[in-house]
Amino acid sequence: MRKKLVVGNWKMHGSRAANAELLAGILGARPFTCDVGVCVPFVYIADAAVSLAASDIRWGSQDVSPHEQGAYTGEVSAKMLRELGCRYAIVGHSERRAFHQESDQLVADKAKTALGHGLTPIVCVGETLEQREAGQTEAVVKRQLSAVIHTLGHCAGEMVVAYEPVWAIGTGRTATPEQAQAVHAVLRAQLQAATSHAETMKILYGGSVKPDNAATLFSQPDIDGGLIGGAALKATDFVAICRAAG
Ligand code: PEP
Repeated sequence: MRKKLVVGNWKMHGSRAANAELLAGILGARPFTCDVGVCVPFVYIADAAVSLAASDIRWGSQDVSPHEQGAYTGEVSAKMLRELGCRYAIVGHSERRAFHQESDQLVADKAKTALGHGLTPIVCVGETLEQREAGQTEAVVKRQLSAVIHTLGHCAGEMVVAYEPVWAIGTGRTATPEQAQAVHAVLRAQLQAATSHAETMKILYGGSVKPDNAATLFSQPDIDGGLIGGAALKATDFVAICRAAG
């Protein structure tokens, strides 16, 4: 039985005051049965580390440089994130793939650098509405995951995968539990073919998860928790989603 994991992706939201209130709300609702994490903007990681250090809630980033160090203005290295106690680094979020032209290989390189420094990469994959309607969902997510599997090699079993259909992110339109499960099963089979750890690996679902749809999504056999955007910004909603994870 895989322990569920719920991770908040705050995206580019927040302020020091709002974040402190949000984290206090989450901390005050402990204990949780599932593992819980928050991936916050880079500038707030140090604050999150202070607030969460004495708890079992982990924190992380929303991106990481594929480079070790050097003349890469604006980038943040995995080593720096680790120094601030990060557990997770989201890589390949669809907003980064779309707005920053991140390729499958770049996402894979980021995942590798993260792992090399003890961060767990949360690797996002997902199809656009156009791709779904063209019957390409399976091919797209398999291609995206395959680049990461190849690049990580024997370490592939250490990543967390997040299936996030692009058409469900921030739209209020959620994949049905059956639609999500079908893709999760495809991803699990792909991991099974590549690593002996597939049965213990976590595959999260992300895309308009809310308190009222979380439990049904999380009850699917291959859905091991969620990557939560909008609903992670309100403590009561995020806490309710964590509770729904069991
Ligand atoms: C996300 O951005 O990872 C996400 C799942 O967003 P939302 O929950 O708002 O759809």
